[in-house]
Amino acid sequence: MWRSRVLAAAFVSLSLTLVVAGPSRGAGDPEGAGQSQAAVGLPPVVSHVPTQEKVVFITIDDGWNHDPEAARILLDKRVPVSLFLLPGATSYDTGYFTALTASAGQGRATVENHTVNHPDLTTLDAAGKDAEVCGAGEQLSATFGRTPKLLRPPYGAVNDDVRLAAKACGVKALVTWTHDFTTWGQTPPTPQLKAGDIVLLHFTPTLAADLQRALDAAKAAGLKPAALMPHLKSAGLV
Ligand SMILES: [Zn+2]
Repeated sequence: MWRSRVLAAAFVSLSLTLVVAGPSRGAGDPEGAGQSQAAVGLPPVVSHVPTQEKVVFITIDDGWNHDPEAARILLDKRVPVSLFLLPGATSYDTGYFTALTASAGQGRATVENHTVNHPDLTTLDAAGKDAEVCGAGEQLSATFGRTPKLLRPPYGAVNDDVRLAAKACGVKALVTWTHDFTTWGQTPPTPQLKAGDIVLLHFTPTLAADLQRALDAAKAAGLKPAALMPHLKSAGLV
């Protein structure tokens, strides 16, 4: 069906022309065209959510350290949060997380997928990706009663094969981040947050302090933490 292939290519090309016809009209981008065409139908990779609303998105990864102070801040301030958890990090103290998902209110804290063993997914074959992503989804679903819809690929490592594997496991979007607020040895400089930014934190011993810095930075920028999925939907990303 050469006609439909040609028409499809023409349509992609036209769309790209319309997109680049704005501020800086370039000489075209064959590489970009190839990527867009290959990526049709795959879940998006999102590091920032396009929005006019004054919101930021708080995300917390892994789950090894279960600091009561961090949980208290999340619950007291009713912070909407996406938790990208490793099943192994929740299994020995599931209650820490169910307290967040249950007491924090419907949809305020959601458990999302971060694989089983935290590999760089781009290095695995199809069966390996399937075991890591579908496997984590199944385990988290069994524990928390909800199938994760979002995947945070470990290290932010993604390519189209990872997106394809994620799609096969029911993932609607792969979520990376705009700013990492985690204290890894040293406290990072606090960035100026903007609407739609995705903040990355980790369940480490410094989570309470890192979370407080993120909340303070959001407040200073006039932004409020918001739930990720509804904004991914209104942005047309899922
Ligand atoms: Zn991680």
